Amino acid sequence: GGCALFFYDPDMQAHLISRIRIETELREAISKGKQFELYYQPQINSLGIVTGAEALIRWNTADRGIVSPLEFIAIAEESGLILPLGDWVLETACQQLATWALEPKSAHLTLAVNISARQMGIPAFVENVLTIVSQANINPEKLKLELTESILLENMEDTITKMTALKARGIKFSIDDFGTGYSSLQYLKRLPLDQLKIDQSFIQDIENDPNDRAIVRTIIAMANSLNLEVIAEGVETEKQKELLTNKGCLNYQGYLFSKPLPLKMFNQYLTKH
Ligand code: C2E
Ligand code: CA
Ligand code: CA
Ligand code: CA
Repeated sequence: GGCALFFYDPDMQAHLISRIRIETELREAISKGKQFELYYQPQINSLGIVTGAEALIRWNTADRGIVSPLEFIAIAEESGLILPLGDWVLETACQQLATWALEPKSAHLTLAVNISARQMGIPAFVENVLTIVSQANINPEKLKLELTESILLENMEDTITKMTALKARGIKFSIDDFGTGYSSLQYLKRLPLDQLKIDQSFIQDIENDPNDRAIVRTIIAMANSLNLEVIAEGVETEKQKELLTNKGCLNYQGYLFSKPLPLKMFNQYLTKH
């Protein structure tokens, strides 16, 4: 029956083998610590100023070229490898903030780092982040941690405790992919947040879909009533940006401005903008 088919399905087997291969290679790459790189995607305000960036990880493999995080972050989470990998991301991001702090053209920049549920869940999370921040000797206010709604909802009390401890030291928080979860105003009020990031799925069709426009309007109203900054991700066209600006969203990230860039190119982008 179905079960035998399941086990002998060559596609399923190929999938499983590829998963195991990725996990094995990931483990090896982390222990060698050479194949990972952070890309930086500019975040722009309504005056056209680059206010910061989001750090997005890339994996440079010898045989498969650059592997997208969409292909390995989930595997890293399930295998626990996200813990050492997440530390590497935070350390690299904080070191970058320290370097930017030395130059007038980049000293104002904030850097957003994606945090996965597994990372946030470990008891040592707060201590871990604070150690990395203090070793890099950066202004903690330049570091912004991006959490998804599902992380926040999973273990609300624990998450609030950890966020509050980091917030007390100046670290900022943004909710990533906002609008795709089930956050209510009531619940957002309890979280020490600084920013809502509108998910790109609502931006994509904003020109044609009145539902998306209504959702975006609601998110901006929520952000305003909670005194939170709002940023839209996945902004690809001038028209989308214009619609967002008119609705009161004054921060943007997306291909309209730039793709995520390797460090050198990001620094070049900064000098030109
Ligand atoms: P995300 O945090 O929602 O990041 C936004 C994704 O949208 C990025 O994909 C970015 O390259 C892409 N993007 C940016 N602007 C546009 C645009 O205008 N149009 C479109 N269509 N896409 C745009 P990327 O870099 O492939 O990352 C995918 C996901 O992998 C991220 O989604 C995040 O969830 C995860 N990720 C990336 N780096 C890290 C990391 O260091 N740690 C963790 N835990 N997750 C990460
Ligand atoms: Ca993100
Ligand atoms: Ca996002
Ligand atoms: Ca996303």
